[in-house]
Amino acid sequence: MFNSVVKNVRRLNEDKTVNIGIANGCFAAITTASIQGEKEWDAHGHIVLPPFVEMHTHLDTTLTIGNQVNNKTGTLFEAISIWHERKQYLSEEDVINRATKALHMLMEHGVLYVRAAVDISDPHLTALKALLEVRKRMAEVLELQIIAFPQDGLMSCEENQARLIEAVEMGADAVSAVPHLERTREQGIASLEYCFSIAKQYDKFVHVFCDEIDDDQSRFLEVVADLTIKNNMEGSVTASHAIALAYYNEPYAQKVIQLVKQAELTIVACPLINSVVQGRLDRFPKGRGITRIKDLYTAGVNVCIAHDDIRTPFYPFGSGNILQAAHMGLHLAHMTGADDLHAIFQMISHHGAQSFGLEENYGIEIGKPANFITIPGKDMSDIITNQPKCSFIFRNGNLIASTEPEKTQWHTVSTNNKVSGAST
Ligand SMILES: [Zn+2]
Repeated sequence: MFNSVVKNVRRLNEDKTVNIGIANGCFAAITTASIQGEKEWDAHGHIVLPPFVEMHTHLDTTLTIGNQVNNKTGTLFEAISIWHERKQYLSEEDVINRATKALHMLMEHGVLYVRAAVDISDPHLTALKALLEVRKRMAEVLELQIIAFPQDGLMSCEENQARLIEAVEMGADAVSAVPHLERTREQGIASLEYCFSIAKQYDKFVHVFCDEIDDDQSRFLEVVADLTIKNNMEGSVTASHAIALAYYNEPYAQKVIQLVKQAELTIVACPLINSVVQGRLDRFPKGRGITRIKDLYTAGVNVCIAHDDIRTPFYPFGSGNILQAAHMGLHLAHMTGADDLHAIFQMISHHGAQSFGLEENYGIEIGKPANFITIPGKDMSDIITNQPKCSFIFRNGNLIASTEPEKTQWHTVSTNNKVSGAST
């Protein structure tokens, strides 16, 4: 007798259903045999997957869309200036409420690991204090990593240098920089050197916002890779965006990709927001607003796809459904082949888990913590197409959320299966 049993789940790419037995919070059986538990659920043949990993979002800006001012142009630069105003009115309660709501939106869609950047360009570090509290309150249901992120730069806003240290001492997991937004290239490099020095000193990992600009002269990714190798930090550094890589000439791009591989960087693409904020200054042809996802993946780089903003001045949409980001990512990266779907799934699960440091405890295997989701669909193509919510979400063997699958009831269908009144 197990503590819990989830019956009739299907593993990806398998036809037969299996039953999962859970004991002491861990997978204790995955079998076609009939098993019994003190509590039992029927997954009706839904696919079982490890929880998704969201590698890049913002819980301080989240759900502020239209809260004070709308972004009329939709550009990144207007968004930054709106946020500059909005953050003067932050209170801890305000951030806790919005962050908690956004985390629930992500969890409903199967995300149980979240890495969030918090802007430290506020002298009171209000948002950071609030998110440290959220991390504590929600520790039982999800794992939250907090990046200390200097939105206004580390050199352009020198006060952020001391705030970065303060943020780490308060409990931030990682340090960041935003080199392409510093005033000069030299200041961009200096900001990265500062960021790495603090990471080294405090034994934190690095997650840089890198080259989020359609400028083939924005060449900070090579600097991030170089500093990673020099500081012996291979495997503990992430770079988000890396848009400029898409604009580099081919020989230079290939050189940088090899350097990224050598430094064991994780690259995070954010296709929802970047598809709309990039390419704004192009006439035609317009850039696709995404890094070289396929080239990086093919070269063996640990590439992730993230949802990023949820209803902020930077991006007015987003429901917390990371499958929307995967869907957009595979379009922009030309990865619609059958074999590509496996890669896209890796980019919202195992690759993030690797960067999160979860390898030993992540996946559907006997002995590992019973963290998993079940999701309606026949295969990955079905899941990416329909982007359904999870039917069950388990954390350490406990059911934390469930959603009834959508079912449409037809009332006007004629006998030849055409909707009455529809033209043919
Ligand atoms: Zn972002």
